[in-house]
Amino acid sequence: MLNRIKSFQGSRHFRLQYVADSTVAAVAVPGTGSLANAAIIDLGGLTLVVDTFATLEAAQDLKAAAEHLTGNPVSYVINTHWHSDHTTGNQVFVPDAQLISTSGTHEIMNTFARDRVTQYQNNREKMLEAIEEAELQSQQETDTKLQQEMAWENATDREFVNMLPQLVHTVPTITFDRQMTIHGSNRSAQLITYGGGHTQSDAIVYLPEDKIVIIGDLVLSNHHPVLANANPQEWLHILEQIERLDVETIIPGHGEVCSLQQLHEVKGYISRMIAIVTEAVQNQQSIEEIEIPEEYRAWYFTTYFKTNLNKLYDLITASGE
Ligand SMILES: [Zn+2]
Repeated sequence: MLNRIKSFQGSRHFRLQYVADSTVAAVAVPGTGSLANAAIIDLGGLTLVVDTFATLEAAQDLKAAAEHLTGNPVSYVINTHWHSDHTTGNQVFVPDAQLISTSGTHEIMNTFARDRVTQYQNNREKMLEAIEEAELQSQQETDTKLQQEMAWENATDREFVNMLPQLVHTVPTITFDRQMTIHGSNRSAQLITYGGGHTQSDAIVYLPEDKIVIIGDLVLSNHHPVLANANPQEWLHILEQIERLDVETIIPGHGEVCSLQQLHEVKGYISRMIAIVTEAVQNQQSIEEIEIPEEYRAWYFTTYFKTNLNKLYDLITASGE
């Protein structure tokens, strides 16, 4: 696929990055309708796409890239988890491709996520007003890094809301509970779930021959992990199991293609955050004043630091610490 990357017309939503002969990462361009990363896999006569971005326009470009790179139509699309920045583009790939997820992800996409899309579609005006307000706020922000992140978020939100009238919520039709394997003529892709860590159910796509894992949001590179729907202890446990696979390259849910080093950083982050909040709870201190530890200050998704603290505070106080 290396040569065909050069001849791809390009997309403003992502940058194609060669990972191996089988695998190209579509690394999201911030401030566009992609938001999360996706991956294109050529198993030999069989094309897979992993995750489908936050807008239909970004997904259409992804589909075009997959067809261009592999010379084949997309046969299967895998959703690593239900979050909209990994699933909204599903619609673009049907009916030609089959959509696959864990049964847990399918369940949420068919209920909670479906209702949420309907709510979004019924509240577009309000959402646009909120974006306008957020845009004014970002103009007044004095921290340049935060200001940039807010501008990216607002631009992405605008593309998402503008797209909503065209969106048909599209859920997977094939599900698995532990593992399934897709065999091409050159190699196989293992779809694996170890349960739910980042969300109620998280899947990874593992290419043992290439030592690559497309990991969804279980690992982010240079971004704060997002704990809003997380089970932090399970998340750590899942990462330990992924460590036992033979992995050299990780395509993360957000940020640049990385390695086990970033998996270890995410483990460190979750453990550190649990320790910080546990200590605050034990000392009956407010979590409001807690600042981002030095080593995470350059990371993106800055605003998630506070929501992560609040989520952990709720979990730790609810468990009766
Ligand atoms: Zn996510």
